[in-house]
Amino acid sequence: MEQTPATISDPTRTGTPGDIFTAALTRLDEAAKLVGVDDEILTRLRRPKRVVQATIPLRLDDGTLCCLPAYRVQHDDSRGPCKGGIRFHPAVDLAEVQALAFWMTFKCAVVGIPFGGGKGGVVVDPKRLSGAELERLSRGYARAMADVIGPTRDVPAPDVYTNAMIMGWMMDEYSECHRGREPAVITGKPIALGGSLGREDATGRGAYYCIKELENQRGWTPSTIRVAIQGFGNAGQHVARLLQADGYRIVAVSDSRGGVARLEGLDVPALIEKKLGGRSLATGYSSKSVCDCPHCGSSSCSCGGARDERLISNAELLELDVDLLIPAALEEQLTEENADRIRARTVVEVANGPTTPMADLILEKRGVQVVPDILANAGGVTVSYFEWAQNRAGLQWSEPEVHARLRETMTRAFGSVMDMSKRKRVPLRAAAYACGLTAISEAISASGTQSYFSPTRSRRET
Ligand code: GLU
Repeated sequence: MEQTPATISDPTRTGTPGDIFTAALTRLDEAAKLVGVDDEILTRLRRPKRVVQATIPLRLDDGTLCCLPAYRVQHDDSRGPCKGGIRFHPAVDLAEVQALAFWMTFKCAVVGIPFGGGKGGVVVDPKRLSGAELERLSRGYARAMADVIGPTRDVPAPDVYTNAMIMGWMMDEYSECHRGREPAVITGKPIALGGSLGREDATGRGAYYCIKELENQRGWTPSTIRVAIQGFGNAGQHVARLLQADGYRIVAVSDSRGGVARLEGLDVPALIEKKLGGRSLATGYSSKSVCDCPHCGSSSCSCGGARDERLISNAELLELDVDLLIPAALEEQLTEENADRIRARTVVEVANGPTTPMADLILEKRGVQVVPDILANAGGVTVSYFEWAQNRAGLQWSEPEVHARLRETMTRAFGSVMDMSKRKRVPLRAAAYACGLTAISEAISASGTQSYFSPTRSRRET
């Protein structure tokens, strides 16, 4: 009896209703309506190609053993090896890692680099680990995933609460497992271990290049543009620094403990110095917050207003009266709860997935322009690609060369997304997904879809 695929399993059912991966898939359906691709391609992209779930046994310094859940999701590799970061965070779960891997597939396609999408995570609060524990965890992750990652399979990189030092340990461990040095297995490494110049600030710099394009289009005068940045990690710090150097007024920044605001503009280099000053050499994590008082270091003292700086919460920062809002922290920050109260006219997403689909609809109705994550934060993975290419070719490019190539890539991608948005009369996010889906579907179709194998296919097409 002939069996249709639907009776074997329902290919449209993925994720759990209401989870972040299922929500992320709504972008795929929207894009499909715009560019009309073969259904089979959508069926493929609705599920990750591979999900690896592991347990990492971690021996703590006090001798106790703790078992940590770890994931690596390879969403799609039609355009090249999977690519995407590894995050260490207590709130990591499988749906989140699947969503993050899905976003990477589209991000790499939007900027036209030859990678698919992947992502990894460990459920852990890394700030509670010593340096030695962090190293054992990082090596444990590389061992657990050593059979599925690799320069031509899946190339990890830093993400939330992982950094160059961790990438170096993982590369070293993977190389031990494979009995040969393999720098191209991972990107975002220390320069001394094959890292690329310009990778450290690449995510912030890529977003900065997008903002320079907006500046051109809108005729902005930087000193009149008030900017609020949620998140002061690697990406947030660099975008703040680069924008302020061009005269933009950074009126508020925050981190996981809270934020600080000053109408006349904050002293960004001083805030970065404070953050970096609290950094532990063994782990790279900072014990200091941007909302620690510059005078006494406390986030609750009354002299916090000494330099007319006001302490604010993360939620308040999002709703400030600013021109440009930059979410650069975690997912789902702009939701149907607060989207009505966002006063910025432009949002540039440096975090992955900071805006929910419901919030997007509200922001669109209110005329807020959102430059989506899969374009705005693609600078990081773009320079990761440069690092991988340098490793494989045995070359090292200069920093100006990396910056020039990054600017060219970001400017080209920004232009294509803008053109698509104008042509289809849709917001930038839908346009970016449409651009991404076009590139992914070309790659999938090139290796054969149902219409290619159809018995009714005309001979002349062959
Ligand atoms: N974690 C970064 C991102 O979400 C960088 C990924 C990479 O360099 O592979 O884009």
